[in-house]
Amino acid sequence: MIVVMERWATEGQIADVVERLGEGGARVQRLDGERVTLAVTGGVDRTHPPLGSMSHSSISGMAGVGSVLKDPGATPLVAAMDGGTGGGSGERGWGEPSTEARAGTGVPAADADLGFQVRDRWIGGRELFAVAGPCSVEDPETMERIAEAVAAAGAIGLRAGAFKPRSSPYSFQGMGEEGLAVARAAADAHGLLLVSEVLDATQIPMAARYVDVLQVGSRNMYNTPLLRELGRARRPVLLKRGLAATIDEWLNAAEYVVSAGNPRVILCERGIRTFETATRNTLDLNAIPVIRERSRLPVVVDPSHGTGHRAYVRAMARAAVACGADGLLLEVHTQPDRALSDGAQTIDPDTFRKVMRDAEAIRGVLAGD
Ligand code: PEP
Ligand code: MN
Repeated sequence: MIVVMERWATEGQIADVVERLGEGGARVQRLDGERVTLAVTGGVDRTHPPLGSMSHSSISGMAGVGSVLKDPGATPLVAAMDGGTGGGSGERGWGEPSTEARAGTGVPAADADLGFQVRDRWIGGRELFAVAGPCSVEDPETMERIAEAVAAAGAIGLRAGAFKPRSSPYSFQGMGEEGLAVARAAADAHGLLLVSEVLDATQIPMAARYVDVLQVGSRNMYNTPLLRELGRARRPVLLKRGLAATIDEWLNAAEYVVSAGNPRVILCERGIRTFETATRNTLDLNAIPVIRERSRLPVVVDPSHGTGHRAYVRAMARAAVACGADGLLLEVHTQPDRALSDGAQTIDPDTFRKVMRDAEAIRGVLAGD
């Protein structure tokens, strides 16, 4: 059960609800945002009346209670939270469950208010979170040219890895902090949000000085110490699906971040490993409607890693938007064949412009639904 208190709820009212929720021996977790959210996250003592018998109305009728979500499943915070209702890049907020969620169906609506604000942009719902750029930061001139091209085509964010989780220790490992500074300058010059990956928890404070969104790579989705530490970071987190992770495992990874205090998580489908070898990964677009049903977090798709071949990227980007993705993460380079990493799956700015046009047209069709 998740209880979202009213904005005006007093500490006394909150304490009363905590006490009532805890009567069955359940563990009650308090999360402070724009509103206080109380999550019953397990630990029910079976010698006490089971939580299931706790009446929904006995809680929702208590003073200061805003809404109650009775059956949010194994990832209660991910089911109920949408990262808050704005407040700029430095602030946190907790969103309200949707109307349907409030009615207790557990099925959140896909609506225009889904998502959250970062700087002057909105991630999720109302505008496509289009993030484009090279796999890795290379040099200032290349970075600048790419940022200029993707901004002109309508990107909201610039992607560029400075710490690269490469399969081989002999491959280019990224430019490190210097790369983040280069990418930040290019993003600022073109009004773009910067998305970049951190490989371990020690990098978070430094990376947060440069980036707007901290990316967790596929290989790190199970790194729970990193996820917990990102829960304490004051930056949104783009959480890529593990290469062999089920949707449940992925949502649980998001739950680690949210339950540690950071509700601003963006999920990113980037393909999973299957027996298929014609493509680098198999882009699991089934995940998009499933996530939409189980959570209020924005979900984006990375067709670059999802296919591994630039020839297939545009088609799968279209499909991603058509099935309801809130955004796209795309590898774009002015000279894809010269990219220092992932060139084979990197598209050029001209193709990116076409992807953006496709996306706009498809979203127009969906809006009329
Ligand atoms: C990337 O975005 O460049 C990356 C390394 O992706 P993934 O973690 O999905 O492999
Ligand atoms: Mn890459």
